[in-house]
This record gives sequence, C-alpha cells and structure tokens, in this order.
Amino acid sequence: MPLLEVKNIVFGAGSERKTPILSGLSLSLEQGEVHALLGTNGTGKSTLAYLVMGCEGYAPSSGEIRFDSVVINGLPVHERARLGITMAWQEPVRFEGISVRDYLTIGKKNVDPVSSLQMVGLSPELCLDRMVDKCLSGGERKRIELASVLALGPRLAILDEPDSGIDMLSIHDVINVINAFRKNGTAVLLITHREEIAGIADRASQLCYGKIICSGTPEKVAEHYKMKHCQTCDRVECHYV
Ligand code: ADP
Ligand code: MG
Repeated sequence: MPLLEVKNIVFGAGSERKTPILSGLSLSLEQGEVHALLGTNGTGKSTLAYLVMGCEGYAPSSGEIRFDSVVINGLPVHERARLGITMAWQEPVRFEGISVRDYLTIGKKNVDPVSSLQMVGLSPELCLDRMVDKCLSGGERKRIELASVLALGPRLAILDEPDSGIDMLSIHDVINVINAFRKNGTAVLLITHREEIAGIADRASQLCYGKIICSGTPEKVAEHYKMKHCQTCDRVECHYV
C-alpha cells in the first residue's frame, strides 16, 4: 500500500478558483521511496507540494489525497505534520532573533543538531550559535532548513527544488542530503526541473500543464523530459498533454 496516494486532484487558483493549475493529477509514493517530480517552471510542482502539505488556501476542489490510506484532504498543516509529513520550501524561511541551535531543536524530541548539520555539509561549530536571519546566505538557509527536516525524521519529506537558491546546492550536496533521508527511511518527494537531480531518485514522474504525463525510472522520465518540455509553462496551449 502506498504511503502517499494523490488521486485525480483538481485545483484552480485566482478568483473563484477559475484558473486551472492541477487538472486531474495522480501520483503515488511508496514507504521510503525517493520520487523525483520533474517539470518546467509554472507546471504546478509547488502547488502540488502545498496541497499535500495542506497549506492555507490549498484544498483540492475534487480528488483525494491519502496518507497511509487515510484521506487527509481536510486536515490542517499541523495535523499532517503530526502524521509525519514535512516540507522544505523552495524559498527557505528566515526568522529574526532565533539561533540555528534553537531553530533545529525547539519543540522537537531527541534531536541531535550536530549530526543534522553535518549531514547537510555545514560545520556545527561555525553554525550553531548564528542567527537564522539575513546574515546567512541563501545556500546556508537552504541547508539549515534541510537539516531541520532531517532532524524531524519525517515519514515523508517534500523537498521543493532543494538545488535552488542564491548560491545553489550542488548536485553532490543534494545527493548527500537525499542519502541521509534514505538512511532514515524517509520517503522523499523531490521536486526539481533538473534532470540530473531526478537521476538520484528511485522513481520519477513528469508534470506538465497540471498533469503527470510520464512516470517510471528516472532515466526514462529524464529522457522524456529532455525531449518533451517547454521553456516555461505558459498554460495556454500544451503540445504534450
Ligand atoms: P512550479 O512550482 O511548477 O514552477 P507553481 O505551482 O508555482 O509552478 O505554479 C503553477 C502555475 O500556477 C503558475 O502559472 C503560477 O503562475 C500559477 N499560480 C500559482 N499560484 C497562483 C495563485 N495564487 N493565483 C494565480 N495563479 C497562481
Ligand atoms: Mg515551484
């Protein structure tokens, strides 16, 4: 039985939700599976992430999201977090007045901030007492956010473009982080628009114009993606769906 099962979800944005963003999207993830979601900018990858996480204003107008076979469509973010779903945002968060140590440990049990930071390639000695504010680079904030997701030991981690940011994480960094999740038995929905990143997954799917148009091995999907994608998703007319 899949850990996450997204069935036929429809979601529109804007006034009266009339701008179609996802139009009958289905996707499933097994326990502990790393599943890459490839798609050009604007295809709806982050929107899917927000729907699975249950962010404010993101509820599908039809379709089902099941986690551990329970329908979670109506659950708020904190209840989904309690079930073991966590997300690292495309734009990492910034908090004024909180140290990295506190950010990684407050409200969490049995967290080892030192090993979490090491797993994302940061030096605990240099980082733990710094503030999670504008003095950190984009790449550092990204790593610290990934460290906090790792520290939680979730059942499902949604990583929205872990390689994006002002000074990007290299593919090597992303591979290390994904391997740390693998070691923990965490399933990962790995959102990216780079086929090299998708290559480290167990399985992959391509999102195009609000639908999954190809699923299978990362090699197969990356090959399809290379041949069949637009520069950006203009959401007007699509050749591929
Ligand atoms: P991706 O993460 O794949 O780049 P997004 O999920 O961020 O794509 O966005 C998908 C599409 O939905 C884009 O065309 C974006 O402009 C549009 N969109 C996202 N949120 C809203 C919103 N609140 N209102 C109107 N359009 C939106
Ligand atoms: Mg996005």
